[in-house]
Amino acid sequence: MPAARRFPASFLTKSPLSIEVILFNTLFFSFLIGVSASGLMAQSETLSRAERFKKQHDWKAPLGVPLLLSGNFGELRGNHFHTGVDLKTMGREGLPVLAATEGRVSRVKMSPWGYGNALYLEGPDDLLTVYAHLGAFAPDIQGWAVDQSYKGRTLGLDAAPSGEDAFWVKAGDTLGWSGNSGGSGGPHLHFEIRDATTQHPLNPLSGWMDKADGIPPSLPVLWLETQDRLQAFPIPTTDTIRVDGTFRASMEAFDRLDGASNICGVRSLEAALIRADGTGIWRHQFVLEELDFGVNKDMNAHAFYPVWSRQRKQVHRLHRLEGNRLAIYGPDRNEGWAVLGHGECARLICRAEDAAGNVTEREVILQGGAPKGVWEKKSSAFGAGTIVAKVTSASGQSSQGEVELSWPAQSFFEEAQLSWTPSLDALRFAMGPAEKAWRKPVHVEWAFPQPSGVWSTTGAMFPSEPLAADRWVAVLMKGDAVETAVLAEVKDLAWHMEIPNGGTWEMRRDTVPPKVLPFYSGTPLVKGGDAVWYLDDDLSGIESVELTFDGHWVRSVWDPKRNMITYEASDGRHVPGQVHDVVLVASDAVGNVQEWRRPMTWPEGH
Ligand SMILES: [Zn+2]
Repeated sequence: MPAARRFPASFLTKSPLSIEVILFNTLFFSFLIGVSASGLMAQSETLSRAERFKKQHDWKAPLGVPLLLSGNFGELRGNHFHTGVDLKTMGREGLPVLAATEGRVSRVKMSPWGYGNALYLEGPDDLLTVYAHLGAFAPDIQGWAVDQSYKGRTLGLDAAPSGEDAFWVKAGDTLGWSGNSGGSGGPHLHFEIRDATTQHPLNPLSGWMDKADGIPPSLPVLWLETQDRLQAFPIPTTDTIRVDGTFRASMEAFDRLDGASNICGVRSLEAALIRADGTGIWRHQFVLEELDFGVNKDMNAHAFYPVWSRQRKQVHRLHRLEGNRLAIYGPDRNEGWAVLGHGECARLICRAEDAAGNVTEREVILQGGAPKGVWEKKSSAFGAGTIVAKVTSASGQSSQGEVELSWPAQSFFEEAQLSWTPSLDALRFAMGPAEKAWRKPVHVEWAFPQPSGVWSTTGAMFPSEPLAADRWVAVLMKGDAVETAVLAEVKDLAWHMEIPNGGTWEMRRDTVPPKVLPFYSGTPLVKGGDAVWYLDDDLSGIESVELTFDGHWVRSVWDPKRNMITYEASDGRHVPGQVHDVVLVASDAVGNVQEWRRPMTWPEGH
């Protein structure tokens, strides 16, 4: 009951019936109503782009099985918004992948990373569809792609078949088979719809694909942030939330779809902070209908980074950071900071909608005053030798003693305090801010330890040997595992490195070459004639791989997530019954080289 919220009486009588509130809400919701009614703002009043397309052209679902989504358009992923839908393939590979429209295959990609094996299909009406993480392409496309790889001698391929090589298909034709290639976290089909001219991805659930969904979005947690602290508030709550000083808000919002338990993203969200007298303090709205690869990594400014970076929860800021260039927001730009006087109340309303039109609305009451409960401190104190620099949108540099930091313009999405603290052993340093997203790396130049320095900082009895000056990397550790490694080149008696985000970094030398072994047992040869090796490198990572038979270059398929590299027998570069001198050479990013060499004979019939 509202009375339990200990609300000023005036607030209860005035709200929600005051003229200002109604006006405010009308303006506020009209932005999204306008969008949902017509699909996209630029379109005709009556039909969405998908509806117009389907009236004139064939449209087929890209899989023949019922559509179950393990990911939807616009959900937060790594450092970007997800630009398509992830369709479940019953946990396995090899399901036929069908052309959604008629058209021409305009791009063929094979890569160990990202989309893996992917096809781009240019259809009518400037519509492009993309099919990623495939296991194999249809035979004619596969044959052409393998030929292109041999011509270019490349580990991957990104090519546009044209002229006599062009592949034309009808809607429903088999383009290839589903797989788990590239950066896929398990077998599925990543399906994307784009405007061919702008290359902007469009929301496939906005009229293109039919997906029944009766589950409304969840808005489970409100995050409040003051200048130096932050706290989570589970909602719904009947408690008034006390907040002291200037604050801004973020909301966890996600959706579940019928038939799947995984968490997906919401399609739109609107929020407003409204005073007791009905006047608006700020409002904020976004809709994930169309994205833009050019600014897609500004997702880091959209997400509430302190929680996103640590817990990977779909928490959206209810304000726009200065450097955020995304075009997904309504007309009201707000910086989000607000302050409530002691005892003053305000309503924070939040409304999320999924692609099927299910809506969830939540409201919490905030009151100015000393906060209850324990708020988590955003950053800790700095230690000895710390350098601290204020970073605005301009480029700059700052130096002190043994270190110099320099940063390009727009390094952060808002003003930030850059800090650098060395450890006593002079082989580690902590860099902040850790609670803000870094848009560009900061260049660190740090004096390379000289023998006398190593001697005094390690407390050794005698001066040690000079440290070797090659093959250094700076690594960011997550527990015992290396999360990120960047090269640290030694020149002019200093390490030079591009540090991409905050945390504790360790200086290490990578002197170990990559590991190359038969994947399963003594021989890389497996049933069917493929040859499979295990390939891995610690610290700096694999930089290049080359496979040759009797000195001739042979295509190999590298799957870094499974540490697997494969020669596919269907390439036909071996002669059964004949001895081949097989050499696999792998190098890591600092130049350590491993060579695996063995005479191999394929049995007859393979
Ligand atoms: Zn995907």
